[in-house]
Amino acid sequence: MIKVLNSCRRKLTVLRSRPSWLVLLTILGFVTFLSIGGLRQPPLKAQYVPTAASSNIWEYASFPVENFQTYTSGYGYRTSPVTGEPQFHRGLDMAAPLGSYVRNWWEGRVVALSDHTACGTMIKIQSGQWQHIYCHLMGSVEESPQGRYLMDREGGIILWQGQEIPVGARIGRVGMTGRTTGPHLHWELKHRGQYIDPGLVIKEMFRYQASS
Ligand SMILES: [Zn+2]
Repeated sequence: MIKVLNSCRRKLTVLRSRPSWLVLLTILGFVTFLSIGGLRQPPLKAQYVPTAASSNIWEYASFPVENFQTYTSGYGYRTSPVTGEPQFHRGLDMAAPLGSYVRNWWEGRVVALSDHTACGTMIKIQSGQWQHIYCHLMGSVEESPQGRYLMDREGGIILWQGQEIPVGARIGRVGMTGRTTGPHLHWELKHRGQYIDPGLVIKEMFRYQASS
């Protein structure tokens, strides 16, 4: 019995001599408190953004292009069709006839627009921890005293930077702007700043949408 008590005392002494344990426990408790608090918040629509823990919500996502024909290039290493050099392809290429409408994959906010890079006329939308990026669109980016916007007059598209966009909304059209050899949507996905394979997400979407 005394032995046990002694060993307990020794353990207590160890704990006392390492206040970092207490700090760690306090932080852990606080983080747990925060995450539980976060779950109890009223479910804003924006919180239905997919996470690994709640995969059945993929069914709410929209396929990003109309009149889809085929995937012409996947995510990963490839030989660049433009330069012939090896490169890492950070998106998924989806061929569709020129002028096909591009649809917003998930509701979110337009956080960037540009038209002067290899990506061509580009839209970047933020949905929670996800960013979805659409390249080679028709139209151009204009500046006005009210802000920046993408203008595709023929397609009837005016998209403002900062605008909230519902899921499935038409946000642009498949074009040939930037570095491209044919009409297609180059689509990129980032989660917490990391590029991920959009093909995996499309597969999950089909899995859940086919079963519902
Ligand atoms: Zn591409």
